[in-house]
Amino acid sequence: MNTPLPPMKYASVLVIRCFKKVEHFADWITGAAGPVFVFLCWVLIGSGGLLFFDVVARDLSYLGVFLLSPILSLVPLNMYGQYYLVTHVPPGYPAPKASGKEDKDIKWTIAMPWSYWSGERWGFIKGERPLTGGYEGSDGAAAGGEANSRVRRCRKCDGPKPERTHHCSVCKRCVLMMDHHCPWINGCVGLYNQRHFVLFMAWLSIGCWTVCGLGYRHFINTFSYRSEWKAYTPKIGFTLIYVLCIAIGVAVPVLMSWHLYMVSKGETSIESHDNAYLEKKAQQEGLIYLNPYDLGRRRNLELFFNVGPGGYSMYTLLFPLVIPPSSNGWTFTRRPLPTTPAKPPGSLHAPELAEGLGLLNATTHGGHAEDGLSGYVMGDDGSLTDDDEGGGGWMD
Ligand SMILES: [Zn+2]
Ligand SMILES: [Zn+2]
Repeated sequence: MNTPLPPMKYASVLVIRCFKKVEHFADWITGAAGPVFVFLCWVLIGSGGLLFFDVVARDLSYLGVFLLSPILSLVPLNMYGQYYLVTHVPPGYPAPKASGKEDKDIKWTIAMPWSYWSGERWGFIKGERPLTGGYEGSDGAAAGGEANSRVRRCRKCDGPKPERTHHCSVCKRCVLMMDHHCPWINGCVGLYNQRHFVLFMAWLSIGCWTVCGLGYRHFINTFSYRSEWKAYTPKIGFTLIYVLCIAIGVAVPVLMSWHLYMVSKGETSIESHDNAYLEKKAQQEGLIYLNPYDLGRRRNLELFFNVGPGGYSMYTLLFPLVIPPSSNGWTFTRRPLPTTPAKPPGSLHAPELAEGLGLLNATTHGGHAEDGLSGYVMGDDGSLTDDDEGGGGWMD
């Protein structure tokens, strides 16, 4: 028989329910507004390109066109190409959709060598690096497989949830190596499309700077009634696009730098919250926190773009090509244990920390580690942030 709840308890239950409703509504509106955002983005980058060629490029000399030809060709190619890819390549899922219609484009999750978008089709051949985890420097697959013999289950969709996977409440499914849900692409940024996401931001930034740099004189002209105006575009149109280019040319590079900074640290947007928290917590314990996926700045960036030793050519960054990620999404290359000992740690005050982290030494048992690895804690599998990273990604 149900006993009536005390008033305070009842109020708090009510508040939590309200929050849940608001949260669900925010997720719904993010999903519903997605196509509008994508349409808006196409209108903006489309008109930006058209106006540039109509207003600015028509005044360039033959020599100017020749000297600027790499920019005039590569920027539009990559800006439109990468945006098309980031909106069409699914982020990658650990399992098929539980119910409803399966994506038509699921084939994208496997890079197809015969597709016109694939690097192989254009002569970019991958080096020798297995598409699995393992410890950096080790032979790969064996060590990685061992670390991931048990795969958790998602509490929301009941599907498998490999390491670094999170459940998106907008997409209503689990996403491999999820970074965030982005309304501007109407989907999640994850394992398979994050490369396109970062490269799109890079080429969009270069595009905006090109318009700002080369279109400055035309922008000034739009304020003068007497100035000559040969373009089809009305002056006011160019004024608006130019101002937008300044704003986007400042905001997007900041976002891109932030993403590249996280990539260089071997973490996703979601993991960066976790790692910052765990680092602080470990510090309080006199321990040094290690991100298991941090293989050093250069290597992290190489693995993210899948270039460099064992990956594809650096030139693949210059073209809108589908380059498969360096990981299969189920196992990831992990950093080796440090060989230099850290300071001997004090006793642990927070046992809950030890639960979320794989302790690399014997400190939990009160002993001093004698293997020279004392004082380090390594993140386990990102189990701190359980799921739910949707809705909030309005900024990027
Ligand atoms: Zn899930
Ligand atoms: Zn999503």
